[in-house]
Amino acid sequence: MFVFPSPVLPVNIDAIKGFLHPDEGAALYHYAKLAASTGPCLEVGSYCGKSTVYLGQACAEQGAVLFAVDHHRGSEEHQLGEAYHDASLYSAEQACVDTFPVFRRTIKNAQLENTVVPIVATSVLAAKALRTPLSLVFIDGGHSFETAQTDLHSWQPHLQVGGYLLIHDLFPNPDEGGQAPISIYREALASGNYEALPTVHTLGVLRRIR
Ligand code: SAH
Ligand code: MG
Repeated sequence: MFVFPSPVLPVNIDAIKGFLHPDEGAALYHYAKLAASTGPCLEVGSYCGKSTVYLGQACAEQGAVLFAVDHHRGSEEHQLGEAYHDASLYSAEQACVDTFPVFRRTIKNAQLENTVVPIVATSVLAAKALRTPLSLVFIDGGHSFETAQTDLHSWQPHLQVGGYLLIHDLFPNPDEGGQAPISIYREALASGNYEALPTVHTLGVLRRIR
């Protein structure tokens, strides 16, 4: 597997909570850097901002913008009592997960407040609100089949030809992980609208060709 060089980042990336291998982060940076000269990038699923820092750093270097979409209420697996619940990201007062304060701190520490436009909303609502053609879309939101499919269908129309569609958490072997992300990767590829570039660990990379 080809590994992209690690970008120089103004923060200690290992200290940011998240679900991303450093090689996947380097690939996010690489493709955002290529894409961002032609328009804004967008991610679905920011959590505490780990992927946001990789994508945002590339956008900052290109003078571009990154839209970071997350309702900040956590996915199914982050909820109270679930496998990936983190008590420090739970607001007792609101009785729900709230990752937005940590996300904001990450963006400030990474000096990305003039690059990242946080959109605190569901993916569907954000897709309805935006009209700007995008140079890159990174899908790393909810992992139910319905949510993943909705993300693909919501954001596909916004991606310009030549742009990149990146999908996280592809598990070709069903014993290793949920099948929703890989099902939308396959759906996108089968449409004939994309060419596949090499996958980096669980990060699928597609380029829009028509
Ligand atoms: N990219 C992150 C991890 C994302 S975890 C990293 O690098 O670490 C998935 C995130 O998707 C969670 O923060 C959750 O709140 C968000 N999410 C799940 N479903 C969503 C939806 N329908 N709309 C917006 N955000 C969603
Ligand atoms: Mg993920």
